[in-house]
Amino acid sequence: MGRLLANPLIFAVTLTSLLVTGCSSHRSLSLGGGGGYRGGPAGMLYSHSASRSGERSSSAAGSGQSRQGIPVSVRALVPRKAPLALLSEVRVHKDYLPKSARGRKGQSSMRPRYITIHSTQNWSKGADPWRHSLALKRSKLGSLSWHYTIDQSVAVQHLPTNITGRHADFNGPGNKYSIGLEMCEHKGNSLSRTIGRTAKLAAYLMYKHGIPLSKVVPHYHWPRHGMNPPHKNCPHFLLDNGRPGRKWRGFQARVKYYHDLITVQGPSYAIR
Ligand SMILES: [Zn+2]
Repeated sequence: MGRLLANPLIFAVTLTSLLVTGCSSHRSLSLGGGGGYRGGPAGMLYSHSASRSGERSSSAAGSGQSRQGIPVSVRALVPRKAPLALLSEVRVHKDYLPKSARGRKGQSSMRPRYITIHSTQNWSKGADPWRHSLALKRSKLGSLSWHYTIDQSVAVQHLPTNITGRHADFNGPGNKYSIGLEMCEHKGNSLSRTIGRTAKLAAYLMYKHGIPLSKVVPHYHWPRHGMNPPHKNCPHFLLDNGRPGRKWRGFQARVKYYHDLITVQGPSYAIR
């Protein structure tokens, strides 16, 4: 609390919360201590709390005055994390396929509407994003191509997000309109850290391209006509019995948590 009051900006926000929301502002105060960064489901609850208090105070702050006429800083009403700060945590390295690579033949421009999540199912030693990038660049994976490969440490980008890849459903909408994200699962790679990095990247891409959470989908979502079964068990470790269920909902919650961090207004950002 002393730290809060030492900062004039935070003091203004805190004062506004007290004035505008009354007793319920205790929740805002605990959030101001950094609750939004503790992650997980609890973090999501804090996020919603921040959203509500931010909305309540926004009319007063937007006008530059509280109800009591005390000047309020509008600078505090920004997302709790800058989108580019989230992106920097993902550690994206661009390593595009050359236009001569088979994976780039016949591609067209794309305005992405979906994000498709895959896993490599490549358990061989050292099958990290760089190894997949090399394979794509050398046309070792046939005509396959996708946009990012992610592991516990990095996300390597193989294609710009405004051109199509071939990773989901032959000539279907999954290929025509979605950004393909492949999660690595080679030996020694932390799956939980890989999933966390992928959730952050998906949240940033949602923000960048205006894609709703309902259109962040597993590869399973896209039927592959002529294949049996048409719906692939991919990414297998985020599906339950080969279908989206509890694990997939957990992944969606993580993506939403990171997306809320960079889009929902709240006071935490000001004290970072
Ligand atoms: Zn897949």
